[in-house]
Amino acid sequence: QLSSDPINDVEKEVKEWAREKKIEIDELKRQEKFRRDFLSNISHEFKTPLFAIQGYIEALQDDEFEDKQLARDFLAKAAKNVDRLSYLIKDLDEISKLESGEIPINLTRFKINDLIKEVFESMEIKAKQHNIKLIFKQKYDEPILVNADREKIRQVLVNLIDNSFKYGNEEGNTSVSLFELHDQVLVEVTDNGIGIEEKYLPRLFERFFRTDSSRSRQIGGSGLGLAIVKHIIEAHEQTINVRSTEGLGSTFGFTLQKSKQSLPFPNIPVLKT
Ligand code: ADP
Repeated sequence: QLSSDPINDVEKEVKEWAREKKIEIDELKRQEKFRRDFLSNISHEFKTPLFAIQGYIEALQDDEFEDKQLARDFLAKAAKNVDRLSYLIKDLDEISKLESGEIPINLTRFKINDLIKEVFESMEIKAKQHNIKLIFKQKYDEPILVNADREKIRQVLVNLIDNSFKYGNEEGNTSVSLFELHDQVLVEVTDNGIGIEEKYLPRLFERFFRTDSSRSRQIGGSGLGLAIVKHIIEAHEQTINVRSTEGLGSTFGFTLQKSKQSLPFPNIPVLKT
């Protein structure tokens, strides 16, 4: 069909093409910035423990160094920084594998109640060390069946409960509650720990993000735990959120897809629809 104004048409097409190209270029620039920030974050996170280790080794190498007690103290601190480096590497490896899709989501049908009990058992000693009581608030008589990747959801629970120890109160408690929604179940992990300032909440699930208070309290961590958790939940096409009051505590809640059918055998693979 012939247009009454061909020059105007060509001009419109060129403008549209330029607009699309600009969107593509902006996206590439955003990705490039993201990569740059990511690398600079990684090197920063590695530098701190490495410099600390280097410092302790140099002090111990000094011929004048004679204080045995101080030497033991320095070695313990160096070892703590080695630990920090090793879980940084472990978490980085994990997140890069998750993001590249190298570890696919393997859905099975299982009882979420059983998984929570298992996780509690595996974390019992650590809870005792932190003087924290683990409470499973079971409101329903029947266990709830979900379709999810059991191992990955275990990791989500471990990360959230572990955080509740790290940022919890001595003599505090951590509870896990289940809420049945229409075709989902909501799992909530609640602590009565230090809580999180409201301004930090939107950034909490970003890689390497740590609030000032966790830094100042010298709590070990890579700042990747919640990024991993969010990735796992989103790979399940589910949601995770947090609510918190500074000084009172935090609740992290995530949803899972409920399995409608009754359970003939545990862990039957379910096809993702
Ligand atoms: P890490 O614990 O290794 O620093 P995470 O990604 O697990 O990394 O958590 C990011 C930050 O979110 C923590 O550094 C801490 O500041 C804050 N945070 C996480 N969980 C809690 C919690 N239960 N209570 C208070 N702050 C928390």
